[in-house]
Amino acid sequence: MQETFTEEFDTGPTVHCINRFYNNNLLNIKTESELDPVLNKIIEYYYQGWPNRKHIDKSVQLYYNLRNEIIIENGIIYVADKIVIPTKLRPLILKLLHESHLGLNKTKLRAKQIIYWPGMFNEIEQFINNCNTCNKFQNSNKKSPLIPHEVPNSPYEKVGADILSFEGTDYLVIVDYYSKWFDLIKLKYKTASEIIKKSKQIFSTHGIPKTFIADNMPFNSSEFITFSKTWNFTVVTSSPHYPQSNGLAERTVQTSKKLLKKALEEGCDVEAMLLEYRCTPIISLQASPAELLFSRILRTKLPIANKLLEPRLQHKVQTKLKAFQQKYKSNYDKTATKKETQFKPNTNILIQNNKVWLPGKVIAKANAPRSYLVENNNGTIIRRNTKHLKNTKINVTGNSKEGNIEGKSKVKNKSNKSVLVKELSTRPIRKKKVPNRFKNFVM
Ligand SMILES: [Zn+2]
Repeated sequence: MQETFTEEFDTGPTVHCINRFYNNNLLNIKTESELDPVLNKIIEYYYQGWPNRKHIDKSVQLYYNLRNEIIIENGIIYVADKIVIPTKLRPLILKLLHESHLGLNKTKLRAKQIIYWPGMFNEIEQFINNCNTCNKFQNSNKKSPLIPHEVPNSPYEKVGADILSFEGTDYLVIVDYYSKWFDLIKLKYKTASEIIKKSKQIFSTHGIPKTFIADNMPFNSSEFITFSKTWNFTVVTSSPHYPQSNGLAERTVQTSKKLLKKALEEGCDVEAMLLEYRCTPIISLQASPAELLFSRILRTKLPIANKLLEPRLQHKVQTKLKAFQQKYKSNYDKTATKKETQFKPNTNILIQNNKVWLPGKVIAKANAPRSYLVENNNGTIIRRNTKHLKNTKINVTGNSKEGNIEGKSKVKNKSNKSVLVKELSTRPIRKKKVPNRFKNFVM
């Protein structure tokens, strides 16, 4: 059919001769354009003249406003120099467009340069939203605003604990939230019973804390929980992969590691270094951990007047702790997200693990701030902080790879009008010479 038209209107309405290049055999655009009912209709209107809008075939309506920009050469339709892609070839074109896995905006710009179809931007968006590879390597979330720990009223009321490994040896670290006093005890084994044994040793000196904050195993083992019940204290575990909730213990681990490194370097006692550390004032509190915990300055290797060794109560410690915490929070929050993301049960999400985002599902809100129980793509239920969760538009169907991406080109066409305008360049409209025989048509 098209051949006839080409012959008949050999010197037809096209006034421009643009060098078209087209050499991709996989994409037989010419044949597919002829087979595509909408594009075929356009070819027909192009050569026979566009009827009045009222009489135009519904399927072609989206192209009506562009009719003056349409050119057909060698059976291929162009809108403002951009090749109009037949419906059947669009999934393949989307795949090619996204071959380098660039982001949405870049891909849209790239497409806008060279190709066109109504609703193209929506389809690109949907395609990229469903790209497993892009989803996997998304950026990490911004950190959440700090939820400060409640400031304790008295020494050794609340402690944080962690285990550190240094030069093949494990140590138990327990730090007091009030005085920042910490104990560093060598562990023979990393087992619950060994940790219980060492904890008892520490508690026999300082008393039993009310709250014991610790990161997971072996602190959340049934053995340790039983110990906590017998010794009458509460264990609070922080969210896995989000140690900020046990920030003090984390920082103390770093301090301890530095002490251990320096002791090793100098060949001196860690105990002597620890003692000096415990007797050195904390800048924000203007008192040392020893003064805050025992209300006295401890005698060290350094000379000291007897008078200074007498016990003396520290005043307004809680006020100072609160003021420091407030200052710390406002600094921290400057670079944190302003709004907390909520996740509804049963919705598909992405879960970050080792910097990589993988599909999963929300099970329920966990019993800790910003924490959720989620099911990962292996079907395991885990607890994660919102820092490592992301809402997604991806249709999570288990472990699906690229395979489930193809053929998802359903697009809502409700906004096609604006899409048309945006997707096309602002190049001036080419004027066509209208052959006399078309003068009776409204164009
Ligand atoms: Zn991608």
